[in-house]
Amino acid sequence: MSDPLPGLLKQIFGYDEFRPLQREIMDATLSGRDTVAILPTGAGKSLCYQLPALARDGLTVVVSPLIALMKDQVDQLHAAGVAATFLNSTLDPAQVRNRMSGLTAGEYKLLYVAPERLMLPDFLPWLKQWQVAALAVDEAHCISEWGHDFRPEYRQLAAVREMLPGLPVIALTATATPRVREDILKQLHLQEPAVFIASFNRPNLTYRVIPKSKPERQVWEFASARPEDSGIVYCQARKTTESMAATLKAEGLPALAYHAGLEPAQRAKNQDAFLRDEARIVCATIAFGMGINKPNVRWVIHADLPKNVEGYYQETGRAGRDGLPSDCLLLYSRGDLMKNLRFLDELTDPQAKQVARRQLDQMAAYAESPQCRRVPLLGYFGEEWTEENCGACDACLDPRETWDATLDAQKLLSCLFRIRQKGGFDTGLVHVADVLAGANTEKIRRWGHDTLTTHGVGKDTPRQDWVALGRQLVSLGYAALSEDSFQTISLTPQGMDALKTRATVTLTRQPRTEQAARRTAAALMKTGDIPCDEALFQELRTLRKRLADERDVPPYVIFSDVALRHMARDYPMVPAALLHIPGVGERKLADYGTVFMTAIRDHLTTHARLAFEPRDTTTLPAPARKMKSEGALNGTTLETVALYREGRTVTQIATQRSISEGTVCTHLSRAIVSGDLEVNPGDFFTEAEAARMGEAGSRLGWTALGPVHEALGDIVYNKLHIFRALTQRDEARRSGTPPPA
Ligand code: ADP
Ligand code: ZN
Repeated sequence: MSDPLPGLLKQIFGYDEFRPLQREIMDATLSGRDTVAILPTGAGKSLCYQLPALARDGLTVVVSPLIALMKDQVDQLHAAGVAATFLNSTLDPAQVRNRMSGLTAGEYKLLYVAPERLMLPDFLPWLKQWQVAALAVDEAHCISEWGHDFRPEYRQLAAVREMLPGLPVIALTATATPRVREDILKQLHLQEPAVFIASFNRPNLTYRVIPKSKPERQVWEFASARPEDSGIVYCQARKTTESMAATLKAEGLPALAYHAGLEPAQRAKNQDAFLRDEARIVCATIAFGMGINKPNVRWVIHADLPKNVEGYYQETGRAGRDGLPSDCLLLYSRGDLMKNLRFLDELTDPQAKQVARRQLDQMAAYAESPQCRRVPLLGYFGEEWTEENCGACDACLDPRETWDATLDAQKLLSCLFRIRQKGGFDTGLVHVADVLAGANTEKIRRWGHDTLTTHGVGKDTPRQDWVALGRQLVSLGYAALSEDSFQTISLTPQGMDALKTRATVTLTRQPRTEQAARRTAAALMKTGDIPCDEALFQELRTLRKRLADERDVPPYVIFSDVALRHMARDYPMVPAALLHIPGVGERKLADYGTVFMTAIRDHLTTHARLAFEPRDTTTLPAPARKMKSEGALNGTTLETVALYREGRTVTQIATQRSISEGTVCTHLSRAIVSGDLEVNPGDFFTEAEAARMGEAGSRLGWTALGPVHEALGDIVYNKLHIFRALTQRDEARRSGTPPPA
């Protein structure tokens, strides 16, 4: 028989070529071998079992840990015309019966189930009846306790093997640590499996680190420069996700919070709004992610320091699943690192502490290293990155200046030597900087460090530069920080050697926090999109959204952004041309071809057709607008404002937030004056009261409320506050002056 796979790839999924390793993996599983596929997110793992399922007789059972994802996958398969279904706890008994009889009748090629269901004693016998031809284990790392999402139910999968001997198993995961890999082979009882491991490099992701300074502003700048793009902001604390979302929302960006403390219904609602392109931005704890199949997440920002490189890799990995260029930004501060180190002190198990400590060190090394970001990132997974310039990280895109730091390095290293020599112990880096700067602190006096020959040898250099220099010497191996939370700094043998031989030490210039924070604009570079007619692209997106809503599915189920961008570049207006668009298979052509071709034709009746040269870089201008919340409105004010907008009264807001009604009115007044809040005056006072306040105010002035209050007698201060705010705002609007900050 001829090879069916390329034909099916084109006909069903609309793709011309296999991605790396897809073909090999499919051939292995189709030959009946147990197969393990370890591929990074976005590499196209699903196709590795979906296409073989169509090529073989019988049913392929897919075990998947996430209920939400099952429906999503099945929706996508239906859109491509594939007979697939799922069984899980969201279905009512009648639906389950229905699907079960369909399975018995052999109507489906793919069945998605949760591991719990597979383990129900009366479920296994069904599998025998259904002519199961293969078992696919998605997110296979869930079987390992060493993975980040251990699911005990996965351990039972070996029993399914025993029930159905000879059934080929294909295990897929994006988790790569060797320990997890081994566990997958062992726990699934795989027999001489064919193992495929792809590079974990994600070429379409650009990695950047900038010094953290006013994170809400940094996130806002970044997100508002990408007005059409979806993104995720990861924060460490639940509270931060909420205040971040409130700030962005107040700035007019559609953002929502997501964390494990939300009511399940609210959580599902927020996630859904994100998947459906309604809320562009989710501010989330790491609870958000594994169920996110959304292919067009264009950026991921970490506003706080992740606890380990693996987590960072997985979280940033949620960007750019569709292969389009996407950005990963880490806001880094030493303060965050110290805070996390202090948390470690609360761990009682010394081994756990040591592991966590090492992980944090690796994360800090990632953030502080002047090397290509891909070196530490991929190095974590045991992969060596040898390319000189990756072209998609800050170190490679805007290399930092280097300088000959031999002299300064000598000073610092010898200071470490002297300190140890003097007292037999090491100190923290800040103290070392104090000594070099010739400071006269209590510690310096107590330890006699003012008598060291290195005391004051560096007084021409700011202390923070000595600290930065020390950090760089640590990352280059000349010095080391102690493992405990004191983080004392000591000379390493390499440092001792450099001291003795006066070896040349070359360092990179560290950007100053302020300066670099202002340069966030540089991080706004967007690299290498598929050039296309942006206006048409937007029209097609709107069309896609409408079709998706009618069918109650997320937009990407209809077409990916990649497909739409190709359409907006090639203007396909006949079926043959539409079939050339990646992601357009026969079923989608039949279902959506006409509407999309009509939309393109309509567009061209009023717009000129554009021609496209491939281009690499688009620089987006930095937003010039000042962030509203920076002046008048802080997080707490914004929370009050949000509640008012939802229709709560002053009393309700005060009770809900446990603050006084006066404070609520102060918040609202501020928002009114800054022009951010439109209120209904009737919520606060009657027309008669307004007339009296207006009269008294124009007579006595609004500088102080006391005299007005006294003159009116019965009108409470809260009302006066609001009324004054409205008056001031109206005056400002009339005279065209900006509101006071
Ligand atoms: P993973 O599960 O590895 O994260 P997915 O299976 O979700 O990746 O695939 C990521 C995206 O790549 C999907 O939009 C999918 O349709 C697309 N894709 C998969 N294989 C191919 C291919 N051979 N050519 C083009 N696009 C592909
Ligand atoms: Zn690089």
